[in-house]
Amino acid sequence: MSLLKQQTYQPLTEAAAIDLAVRLNLVTDNADLTCKEIGDGNLNLVFHIVDKQHDKSIIIKQALPYAKVVGESWPLTLKRAKIEADALKIFGQIAPEYVPTVYHTDDILAVTVMEDLSHLLIARTGFIKGRTYPLISQHLGEYLANTLFFTSDYGLGPAVKKERVQQFINPELCKITEDLIFTDPFYDAETNNFEVDLGPAVEELWQDEELKNHVNILKKNFLTDAEVLLHGDLHTGSVFANDWETKVIDPEFAFYGPAGFDIGQVFANLLFQVIVNDKNRDIFIKHIETFWNVLESQFSHLWERENKEPIAKTSAFLKYNLSKFFKDSIGFAGCELIRRTIGLAHVADLDSIENKEIRLAAKQKTLELGKTLIKLRNEIKNLQEFIHVVKTVI
Ligand code: ADP
Ligand code: MG
Repeated sequence: MSLLKQQTYQPLTEAAAIDLAVRLNLVTDNADLTCKEIGDGNLNLVFHIVDKQHDKSIIIKQALPYAKVVGESWPLTLKRAKIEADALKIFGQIAPEYVPTVYHTDDILAVTVMEDLSHLLIARTGFIKGRTYPLISQHLGEYLANTLFFTSDYGLGPAVKKERVQQFINPELCKITEDLIFTDPFYDAETNNFEVDLGPAVEELWQDEELKNHVNILKKNFLTDAEVLLHGDLHTGSVFANDWETKVIDPEFAFYGPAGFDIGQVFANLLFQVIVNDKNRDIFIKHIETFWNVLESQFSHLWERENKEPIAKTSAFLKYNLSKFFKDSIGFAGCELIRRTIGLAHVADLDSIENKEIRLAAKQKTLELGKTLIKLRNEIKNLQEFIHVVKTVI
């Protein structure tokens, strides 16, 4: 292992990935080893190594010094691999059922070696194929209640929490979020990407001063409100699932920010299915309800039992925090809905709809819902009112 640590950075080839796995003793050196680069993501290499003979497999994820989706013209720090590995380890301690096991990390190679989850499907892909994953909302609610509480001041105490804030300073990846979620979709930025027919709706959005003021406030919240260690990119493409298992991957955007950001991304990515999936609409509404209800009750339980702050354990202060998370999350969900429709990075839930009329109608609804949630977030007091607003708009 010490040999590995001395290497300089190099992108791995499939052969080099096998070599690394063998040297780490994670697979046996034999003729049956296969390796395939399977990364369908935008930023990194992902190698799937299989040792058929011993029925073992692992994943090696390696950061590239640029964003794969754009190419070498968009350089991106390799330090994100360390952020991802550290976050996986912390979340893995707090919510072990819902996080892949990390076997090895190497900061110089920008590599994380982890559990192979190929028996599961990326939730977004599953949803588009018509799966509904009955336990996914309960699991995500438990995952977030635990990660949000145990990384907060109230779960960690102020000293450790501040060390963590420092450890997870992640300026380059945060800048991507700041631009692509909170800034670019709201003016005529080059990164935007939308269908010509959405032009008038987009123009209207760009001229909506009230909306932009709300977005400025949400962005300020994202920039300054170091409440909890966020996953930072918790869309349904970062969730692996089947009917009884859920695993959250890919926390390279992790940093200390407002709890509502992760919650809002889950809300928004379930809302895409509420908008496009006529057949399963009620199931996805139920998922949104279950997700929040589980999160709220598990977070409340931890607040009362594990709170490190002597005078914070009151129901009034708990209520204040949950209400803040909820309102923030509705605003952040609105931003996610808008940016996935007209910004740089889209979602297949919308883009894969072949019929143009249906697709455009879904995108118009998404924009409308996004705007409404951003503007009404402080008025929406509870889950019922949230669902009512959703049903009214779509
Ligand atoms: P990126 O950061 O580049 O978006 P991801 O972590 O999202 O990379 O991984 C990209 C893809 O690689 C995933 O969509 C999935 O198909 C595959 N993948 C990633 N991690 C695993 C894993 N632990 N087990 C199996 N497949 C994985
Ligand atoms: Mg990623």
